[in-house]
Amino acid sequence: MRRVAPRVRFAPSPTGYLHVGGARTALFNWLYARRHGGTFVLRIEDTDVERSSADMVTGILEGLRWLGLDWNEGPEVGGPHAPYFQSERLDRYRTAASQLLTAGHAYYCYCSADRLREEREKAEARGEAWRYDRACLSLSAEKVSELEAAGAPRAIRFKVRTGSTGFDDQVKGRIEFDTAHIEDFVILRSDLYPTYHLSVVVDDIDMAITDVIRGDDHISNTPKHVLLFEAFGATTPRFAHVPLILGADKKRLSKRHGATSVTEYRRQGYLAEAMVNFLALLGWSPGDDRELMSMNELVESFSLDGISGGNAVFNTEKLDWMNGQYIARLPVDQLAKAVEPFLGEAGLWPPLVSGIDQAWLHRLLDLLRPRAKRLTDFVDLARPFLVDTVEFDPEAIEKHLSTSGLAGHIAALKGTLDTAIPFDEPHVETAVRGSAAERGIKPGVLIHAVRVAVTGRTTSPGLFEVLALLGKARTIARLDRLLLFLATRS
Ligand code: GLU
Repeated sequence: MRRVAPRVRFAPSPTGYLHVGGARTALFNWLYARRHGGTFVLRIEDTDVERSSADMVTGILEGLRWLGLDWNEGPEVGGPHAPYFQSERLDRYRTAASQLLTAGHAYYCYCSADRLREEREKAEARGEAWRYDRACLSLSAEKVSELEAAGAPRAIRFKVRTGSTGFDDQVKGRIEFDTAHIEDFVILRSDLYPTYHLSVVVDDIDMAITDVIRGDDHISNTPKHVLLFEAFGATTPRFAHVPLILGADKKRLSKRHGATSVTEYRRQGYLAEAMVNFLALLGWSPGDDRELMSMNELVESFSLDGISGGNAVFNTEKLDWMNGQYIARLPVDQLAKAVEPFLGEAGLWPPLVSGIDQAWLHRLLDLLRPRAKRLTDFVDLARPFLVDTVEFDPEAIEKHLSTSGLAGHIAALKGTLDTAIPFDEPHVETAVRGSAAERGIKPGVLIHAVRVAVTGRTTSPGLFEVLALLGKARTIARLDRLLLFLATRS
């Protein structure tokens, strides 16, 4: 059977940032839509007015855009089912609730919160789970008039039918349930705001959603939704509940495990492409052992069959590894664009030192990138190259600047380096090794000391490349500074 192109949705509640779990759900929906030539709808579920905020909406949109998850319908782009904010669809939910009342699928409930709480407590004291006792289903007409006359607040409850029902979850398989375990849940509160169950189902119907792909924390809600779809006489979408994301300690991923918001990962120097690749593999696999996959490859390989039933573990080392792989492969002009804001924030870019241009920055980034896992790593790695004078690490001084006769060796090296023409890697290497041989010392003595002179540190990329990149003038100036330092120490 040829199915119509799917319509899927990502439906965040803007009560928090776009977190890793939400981003992964959005990505799976997006990939599914792209794979099958479908439509990806973004719907903002902001009926909880107190906990929702416009800032959170902005943050969510920004996070999705950063990851490259553009939506076909939704905020800012509009679409045939607008508005895509639930707070702007309240009348629709009220009408839908009335429709269920009229059809006998729902009824008014006048029970006070106090009564419900008391009944629940009593049941709990008996060791029983309490479900709404349908007290308001059998109210006499007089009682109803009395309550109405007194202006008693009334909610609307869904009348759960007897029997059983179920759905074929695309990840978990068939799920059957006995409706005896489901209470007559509220669909419209006394303040006329819908509960999540009502608004989500009404919107999924109105927006012609064919497939609901969401976190499996919603799996216990789905039976209620299936009953609602049925009561509305609508086709039930297919469901796919994706497994939770756990931290390394196998507990549900939370702030305790570090960053959970997608924007935070961006700030920490992860590339969007790496983040997407990593998120895609959280609970999904292409069915072979591929790990590094571009967005196009993900789209081509994505299927709900590849989603594992078990929970996925968020492994930060793997993310770092993956990010390093993307940093290593990124075209250098794009890498520069990505790194510049981080350098800028550290006051290192635009450069304070003259003679540094884009082409030079590209050479520097190529030199440093094998050592970077995150874009933020470039700040520390690039610092010695972008400042006028470097500070010597105490450890480096101790280790490499106490060789006796060092000042003489360095002074001699300066002379040899001056003859390195052009001042490129092979000529620099010849000069350093030649100078060491002439002085009767191991090249390592010079290499280590010069590294401290030019970077302040005990480690750096290959020294000859470093010197060639710094250029003759800056190298000689740093050697002079080393000589000054040695002179003041002795
Ligand atoms: N607004 C719900 C949430 O953020 C989404 C529900 C759904 O996908 O059905 O958890």
